[in-house]
Amino acid sequence: APSASFSQAAIKSSFLANISHEIRTPLNIIIGFSQMVAETQEESERAEFHQTVKDNCDVMLKLVNDIVDFSKIESNSLSLCCNPFNLSDVLREVEKRVQPMVMPEVKLYVEALDIQLDADKNRVAQILFNMLHNALKFTQKGVVELKCTVENGVLQIHVTDTGIGIDKQDHELIFDRFYKVDTFVQGSGLGLSLSRNIARMMNGDIQVESELGKGSKFTFVLPIKAA
Ligand code: ADP
Repeated sequence: APSASFSQAAIKSSFLANISHEIRTPLNIIIGFSQMVAETQEESERAEFHQTVKDNCDVMLKLVNDIVDFSKIESNSLSLCCNPFNLSDVLREVEKRVQPMVMPEVKLYVEALDIQLDADKNRVAQILFNMLHNALKFTQKGVVELKCTVENGVLQIHVTDTGIGIDKQDHELIFDRFYKVDTFVQGSGLGLSLSRNIARMMNGDIQVESELGKGSKFTFVLPIKAA
């Protein structure tokens, strides 16, 4: 149908416009700073430049992973595996990975719930990482907190922050692919769209409550199978 091919073309051009910029920025930094690593004699300077190269490699890796997942979802070929694991292990791993992103004036609390789940561990970790990563990215001061509740066979994982918050008109738009409230902020704009798609494949969802200037609360809702 013409509408289908139009939307495919629209997806393609918005994909290229968004992604080419997001690729070029870290790549230029990697090229520039690796040159500087080679040229500097000073040990402390070298370590600093090397860290910048590494950080930007991580940015590129996340981008590539997001793009791979995005194309899997587009082609309906993303599949989930199911294995028993303990949620607290995943929470501790994710907490460790986001630690370098915590700003000096921010306190991060992760309440690790000791509960056995039967789900795709890596995908659960991916969703939690994305929620914490966003909360830390948009919070300069205050608290980022992760808490879990279980009620009537449904696990809810809440990530609350005291960051910049999100205007009501953007509450649904942020779940669209490529959508960013501020286009100057780093990121593909794919994280929440991927997270929601994956959460829904698990019969769950991601929800947002937020007020501009006050902070945000993202909730990952996941039905857990009866033992
Ligand atoms: P990315 O993959 O680039 O991090 P996301 O899809 O995860 O993008 O998020 C899309 C946009 O939603 C962000 O660019 C930001 O504008 C907004 N957003 C997400 N989480 C938060 C948060 N905790 N506080 C403020 N804004 C947020």
